[in-house]
Amino acid sequence: MKKYILTLLLTISFYSMSTQQVIQLDELIGQFNEKSHPNYVALDSTILPVNKTGMYLQKEPLNKLIEAYHAFKAAHPNIPFVIVSATRNYTYQNGIWQRKWNSLYPKYNNATQTAADILQYSSMPGSSRHHWGTDVDITSVSSSYFQQDPKGKILYQWLVENMPKYGFCQAFNEGRDAGYLPEEWHWSYRPIAKQYIARYKYLLETQPEVIINKLNFAGHKELDLKTLLGQYVLSVNTDCY
Ligand SMILES: [Zn+2]
Repeated sequence: MKKYILTLLLTISFYSMSTQQVIQLDELIGQFNEKSHPNYVALDSTILPVNKTGMYLQKEPLNKLIEAYHAFKAAHPNIPFVIVSATRNYTYQNGIWQRKWNSLYPKYNNATQTAADILQYSSMPGSSRHHWGTDVDITSVSSSYFQQDPKGKILYQWLVENMPKYGFCQAFNEGRDAGYLPEEWHWSYRPIAKQYIARYKYLLETQPEVIINKLNFAGHKELDLKTLLGQYVLSVNTDCY
């Protein structure tokens, strides 16, 4: 009888461990190909409107986003709800970073100042929430659209009131004291993203070199990466933890 109970307990603990998602370092920092990952689905295969082809999300956030889209369209059939960015891997983010670095570095002649300018809105490769397959940008990446355009105002009000019902939080909200400027367009699927940020926080606090040694982008040698990663990855809406 004792042996039976022990076996039962071991079986239960094995299954509860195996159902928890184990987050690999390469997926945490975007060094993988979402297009060939078995848990990622092409937005092009769904009803969601997109502004370009070839975007992917993890299955669960994608299904919840589709539910949110249907609810929004039922309420506001004539207002745009378009996905303008989804998963961006390290290579893609490095392209954004390098392009901005090339245009801004001559202005400052200083790595820290160049990075601070880029980091108002763009992440260092390896530190973007878009690496996680859980985050999307909706309709516009301009705050003025959401604050001044009548359609943008209606969209934003709906997102704030309704996205939490589908598991999404606004990662870069007003009122944080560090990190990126507010982004009304960027929504994050908390049930999975909170596991990624917890893993990132743990690594930064215990063995930051595990992450830092994998990063290789313009300015990485001159910048205080440990401090910057802490400021920009961890300074998000408390609702997203
Ligand atoms: Zn975004």
